[in-house]
Amino acid sequence: MAAQDLPAAFGFLASARTGGGRLPEAVFATRGSLTGVDARLPGQTLTATLVHSPEFPPDAAQARDTDIAVLIAGELYNREELRSVLDSEPDGDARLILELVRRYGPHAFRLLNGRFAAVVSTGGHALLAADHAGSVPLYVCVAPGEVLAATEAKALAGQSDPRGFPLAGARRVHGLPGVYQVPAGAVIDVDLAAGTAGTERTWAPPLARRIMEESEAVAAVRAALERAVTARITPGRTPLVVLSGGIDSSGVAACAHRAAGALESVSMGTDTSDEFAQARLVADHLGAGHREITVPTADLLAQLPYAVWAAESLDPHIIEYLLPLVALYRALGGPARRILTGYGADIPLAGMHREDRLPNLDTAVAYDMATFDGLNEMTPVLSALGGHWTTHPYWDREVLDLLVSLEAGLKRRYGRDKWVLRAALADVLPEATVKRPKLGVHEGSGTTSSFSLLLQEQGVAEQHVEAAKTQVVRELFDLTVVGGRRPAEVSTDEVVRSVAERVSKDAA
Ligand code: ATP
Ligand code: MG
Repeated sequence: MAAQDLPAAFGFLASARTGGGRLPEAVFATRGSLTGVDARLPGQTLTATLVHSPEFPPDAAQARDTDIAVLIAGELYNREELRSVLDSEPDGDARLILELVRRYGPHAFRLLNGRFAAVVSTGGHALLAADHAGSVPLYVCVAPGEVLAATEAKALAGQSDPRGFPLAGARRVHGLPGVYQVPAGAVIDVDLAAGTAGTERTWAPPLARRIMEESEAVAAVRAALERAVTARITPGRTPLVVLSGGIDSSGVAACAHRAAGALESVSMGTDTSDEFAQARLVADHLGAGHREITVPTADLLAQLPYAVWAAESLDPHIIEYLLPLVALYRALGGPARRILTGYGADIPLAGMHREDRLPNLDTAVAYDMATFDGLNEMTPVLSALGGHWTTHPYWDREVLDLLVSLEAGLKRRYGRDKWVLRAALADVLPEATVKRPKLGVHEGSGTTSSFSLLLQEQGVAEQHVEAAKTQVVRELFDLTVVGGRRPAEVSTDEVVRSVAERVSKDAA
């Protein structure tokens, strides 16, 4: 069998409880096989359904001793470092977490650099942990004697109960009373018998800024990115990068090519707009095997229900960024792949803001870092709709800590946005790529303008388009995440028509 190239599990639905009872039927947007877990421990039972690649059993996603059980969806990127503090050489991420929890208790989660959601059952407690970025969303519903946890909110929709315990410090999920999302960089510790829960932060975005020499900052960014990319590729496999030809994904592509000695890349465009020429320039420069996928705009918009179903986000801007990527992942076909993306670099570098006043630039970084949680921009479910696994080197914990903390003048310099990143990659990319101004995925694919046009064609006045988009996304969320409708049965056009009617009537 080929080396395992994917995480052992992509998601789970789990129940930790003191008494009897059954696990509800698992509903996931994540495509894969389902495997049951049943661990009887002193004082509690942990049962779960794991969703995972059909090619491999999810063995490494679970670990169990007589007094403790661990489940993980996703993967760790600093395994060597973590093993170095243990006497044993644990195999598999769940076993590694188990040994670390034995040594450090819940503080183990402060050590992990990964893309994961995890459950630890031990001693009458359930620990529910999200990685520093909350990049694998984790939802919980706590009732006396039982906690339910799932990597997709829809899996808890049937269980939502207004009597569910309120969880301090955790966000409620729209439309699902009693269901909460574990904050990014946090562990919720539930005392099952008492029915009480406490939230402990394991990571926070840096607030301080560091002054560095240009050359030192550039070298640090390059080294951190190379490490993060290397940790995300499987030795002996050709990495696949979703490539726009913008600096962020081109940088990941260049590092992946350096680490693996080979590269595949893929670009998406629509009949409205594409970045094919700019992506091709990079692919040719690196000698990548490159593919272009064109999605007709009507097909793209018809996939809005899939994007909302997968992202479980109510933010229409986020959905516009994610829709073209969802369309790309669904169109990829072929066997399940590990995909690297340049997504997320703009947040710590304020690349989206096209702002050259340093106070405003740093305000944008601080604001975006304080508000990213719960938007689910990096949820693995987007690609797992097509069976694939994505990973985001710019949100590697070490890369993110470094990028956020650089003083603003390194981010905007010599009239360029994301200067430090561009300088860090100047020797491995074409000059035109290094100098290319930012173009968002929602712009390069024409998604934002096509969605606006669709609403305007249904009679929504220009000044009401943004509000109408918010309502369309909310309605799609209510239908698919809360209501359990399959996205294939939900028509974007119908939802848009009904929202347009309502908005126009309200405006009259
Ligand atoms: P820049 O921010 O400078 O434009 P970028 O295009 O790489 O760089 P974004 O525009 O923020 O980054 O897009 C986010 C990520 O989504 C990209 O890094 C890339 O991985 C992926 N992506 C964006 N557009 C496309 C596309 N047309 N085809 C394939 N992947 C894309
Ligand atoms: Mg771009």
